[in-house]
Amino acid sequence: MNDAGARGKCATCKYQRKRCQENCPLAQFFPSNKFEDFQNVSRLYKVSTIIEMLNTVADNEKMAKMVETLILEAKIRSENPVYGSIAIQNKLKLQIEETMKEIDLVRKTTDYFKEL
Ligand SMILES: [Zn+2]
Repeated sequence: MNDAGARGKCATCKYQRKRCQENCPLAQFFPSNKFEDFQNVSRLYKVSTIIEMLNTVADNEKMAKMVETLILEAKIRSENPVYGSIAIQNKLKLQIEETMKEIDLVRKTTDYFKEL
């Protein structure tokens, strides 16, 4: 039994309803338990595009990080189809602005009491 047989179909091949070959390029990144993640990613990118993107990265660790990022981006996009990750960025930007205002107020208060 080869690796593909031992680990079963990867999520990509399961989704595409095809046999998972031993040299399946996405098997290590989308094992069968990552079916939902792959579904989300495939709504944004074609399988060939995902493979092309992976081929632009040299080492395996960076490939894994790239896939992790694609999964996160796709998950956020499925939860917020209109704005995607921009909605989170805007929310965080507002939080930063509020916190900066708070820090400024604390500094001014501290300065005031130092002068007493
Ligand atoms: Zn596969």
